[in-house]
Amino acid sequence: MTRRAYLAGNWKMHLDRGSIAEFCEATSAFPSGEGAPRVGLFPPAVYLAETAAALRGSEIVVGAQTARPEDHGAFTGEVAMRMVRDVGATAVIVGHSERRHVFGETDADVRARVDAALALGLEVVLCVGETLDERERDETATVVLRQLDAGLSGIDGATVAEAVTVAYEPVWAIGTGRTASPGQAQEVHALVRARLAETHGEDVAAHTIIQYGGSVKPGNIAELLACPDVDGALVGGASLDPASFAAIVAAGVA
Ligand code: PEP
Repeated sequence: MTRRAYLAGNWKMHLDRGSIAEFCEATSAFPSGEGAPRVGLFPPAVYLAETAAALRGSEIVVGAQTARPEDHGAFTGEVAMRMVRDVGATAVIVGHSERRHVFGETDADVRARVDAALALGLEVVLCVGETLDERERDETATVVLRQLDAGLSGIDGATVAEAVTVAYEPVWAIGTGRTASPGQAQEVHALVRARLAETHGEDVAAHTIIQYGGSVKPGNIAELLACPDVDGALVGGASLDPASFAAIVAAGVA
C-alpha cells in the first residue's frame, strides 16, 4: 500500500521567536494538496503556543519534543501532556535518544508518556534506535525491538495505526553528519514493520508510518524515501532553515 510521507522537524533547543515566526511564514510555500506529504514541526516548549497559533488552519502538525505524563505535580521546569494539548498542539515526540541518553528516560518512562499522550488524543512520534556500541555488538534488532515493544505492546491496533508514528533514529547518526545508508535504514524499518505485524496485525503494520532520523539532509532524503519501508523522516539540524527543510519536504511529494 502507499503511505503518505511524513516529514517532521525537531528544532530541539534552537531558533527563537523571530526565526520561528519567519519559518512559519515560509511554510506557505511548502507543497500542499494532492500528493503533498504530511509535515510536522516540533518547537521548543516555550514557543509551542505561538507556533500552533501561527500555523492554525494549515495542515502542518505542531507538537512538543517531550512532555511529562502526569497532569499536575511538583516537577519544576517540566510541561504536562495536557498543557501541550491545551495550547493547541496535537502531537508529541516520545523517547527521543536525547531524552533517553541525556535525561535518563527508561523504556517504562517512555511508555508512561505514550499512554498519557494517546489518552489525551495527542499523536505520538515514538523514537527507537541503537547506540554505536550496540550496533557494533550486533544488538541493533534486540534494542530497537525491545524499545518498540515497550512503547506499544498491548495498545489497541486502531490507535497505533491512527495516532502513532515510529521514528527509527540510530543514535550514532543523530547530529553527527553520519547517516545510515539506505540499506541499513531499510533493514531496520522492515524489522520494525514485521514486528508491528506480529504484535498488532498486518493491517496496522501496513498503515503505520515509520520515519528515519539521523543526519537527514536535502541531499540524502530522496534515496532514503526510495526505500520501501521508509515513509518519512524526523529531521534535526536540516529542519532549522526553512529552505533546507522545504527541500526535504519537496522530496516527499508523491
Ligand atoms: C533528531 O534530532 O531527531 C535528528 C535526527 O537530528 P539530526 O537530523 O540533526 O541528526
